Amino acid sequence: MHVVVNAAMSADGKLSTRRREQIAISGTEDFDRVDQLRADSDAVMVGVGTVLADDPSLTVDDPDRQAARTNAGKPANPARVVADSRIRTPPDATVLDDQAATYLLVSEAAPTDFIEEMEAAGAYVIATGQDRVDLTTALAKLEGEGVDRLMVEGGGELIAGLFEEGLVDELSVFVGPTIIGGRDAPTLVDGEGFVEEFPELSLQGVERLGDGVLLRWTL
Ligand code: NAP
Repeated sequence: MHVVVNAAMSADGKLSTRRREQIAISGTEDFDRVDQLRADSDAVMVGVGTVLADDPSLTVDDPDRQAARTNAGKPANPARVVADSRIRTPPDATVLDDQAATYLLVSEAAPTDFIEEMEAAGAYVIATGQDRVDLTTALAKLEGEGVDRLMVEGGGELIAGLFEEGLVDELSVFVGPTIIGGRDAPTLVDGEGFVEEFPELSLQGVERLGDGVLLRWTL
């Protein structure tokens, strides 16, 4: 499986404000690039923190891109994946609507009645890890379901988990022309942080997009 992490951050490295409210960091050019990246992916993944903060749809916006997918024999939208150890995703979350298939990655500690509720809402539940989703095993199971290209949209905790497990192949970051600040505002990679064996990146591209810059790295 090829895993691409894509996010937009402020010039000071924040993904959103200390209130965890989504703010517009990208401009129209970057939104368009992200839409293409989604259309090119088999599945789009977020952590439950992003579902709770933003209630995203994770679907492709452009009807032409959706049509290109269906012409190629694929569903109009890539599948959606939420890492959610104990099922905090609300039953009325947009990721559970009928616009795309949705996989909920849960841990073995997820309550059975919540699992049943999610399955009744149409989600496919994959359980790995005792208390927290075991991302390595969960992604291997997703690959078994035909997910060869996975796009990860955040947030900082999930991205940290993926780097800790050595699961990231590519990182693209749009750096926008704004400062958010705040020691408690989410950053691109949160988690515990590294003190050794820092993941090393190889720069593949630098491109001006509007008033921001797109950085592309491989691991
Ligand atoms: P997040 O990364 O979306 O979700 C984190 C949660 O995922 C964890 O708390 C954990 O909850 C769950 N998870 C399950 N297994 C995990 C694992 N193995 N490793 C890590 N996490 C795992 O949440 P966040 O860091 O709070 O980020 C949300 C913020 O980011 C919001 O403010 C949103 O607006 C922002 N955001 C910005 C962008 C951008 O591009 N600018 C993109 C996305 C999100 P459980 O323990 O309950 O499972």
